[in-house]
Amino acid sequence: KSGLVERLAERAGLKTPNPVVHALDDVSLSVNNGEVVGIVGESGCGKSTLGRVVAGIIEPSEGDVLYHGKTWQDMSPQQAGHARLAVQMIFQDPSSSLNPRHRVDEIVGAAALRHDKTTRPDLQAYVAEQMRRAGLDPVMSRRFPHQFSGGQRQRIGIARALAVQPDMLICDESVASLDVSIQAQILNLFLDLRRELNLTYMFISHDLAVVEHISDRVAVMYLGRIVEEAAVADLFAHPAHPYTRALLQEIPRLDTTRRQYSAISGEIPSPLAPPSGCHFHPRCPFAMPRCAIERPKLREIGSAHRAACHLND
Ligand code: SF4
Ligand code: MG
Repeated sequence: KSGLVERLAERAGLKTPNPVVHALDDVSLSVNNGEVVGIVGESGCGKSTLGRVVAGIIEPSEGDVLYHGKTWQDMSPQQAGHARLAVQMIFQDPSSSLNPRHRVDEIVGAAALRHDKTTRPDLQAYVAEQMRRAGLDPVMSRRFPHQFSGGQRQRIGIARALAVQPDMLICDESVASLDVSIQAQILNLFLDLRRELNLTYMFISHDLAVVEHISDRVAVMYLGRIVEEAAVADLFAHPAHPYTRALLQEIPRLDTTRRQYSAISGEIPSPLAPPSGCHFHPRCPFAMPRCAIERPKLREIGSAHRAACHLND
């Protein structure tokens, strides 16, 4: 349910006959321990909402999030507290999530101290360890966020997340605002941390090159639904869904100049009124009459490869 979207629609004089906006619609996805699962799609496809639901920031109106097989409701308050801490988000803009009046050691250490991950006498050494892990020199721990570059600020955000000893990082466009050369450094940092700390990732990005670089498995989203899911090499070599194929036609390489993908004709329809049947049918070059009527199910089309398209029947 999205109150904000409704209010905006109201202000714009739009009628919303169905006040419930399904930001996510029948999404089912599992992430295994130590895995990097990429979530791709154009803006408005629900990928950020999915990340926030998994992180426990948004509660789904229906359905469950299971952490090690348990829903939030199944957990004791203590277990739920642990699970919430174990799943940390890394956002796009580190500046807006770092208090400008706090020094880096305070930013990195505060939650760790609050949740007994370290003690006051050990705090300085503990913060230094997190900073080193995130690729920052601990001698800078008494500086303020504005004294760092954008890439370094993102590293501060990562050090802060590591300080509470998470199992999983949900990265929502975490490198999108950085220069391309810095992006590669941060992506490689995520991969190093995964090896070092056995971290699991949900990696949300509109950028296919970034997702291809970092993921083991990828889910492609379109207007609130997962339309395809496969191992990364399989998805990029054998995309089965027409939407995925269209996205891939414009994939740039990570180290060359970026281009926005634009191979797909037509605008993304409003999530307020998604098209009937297959949401992609108004833009799909292969659309058949049944596509406007019948919703294609996400089903197995190969080994660990799922797609939601009537062409695969
Ligand atoms: Fe295109 Fe139909 Fe497949 Fe949707 S179900 S992607 S409209 S062919
Ligand atoms: Mg987003």
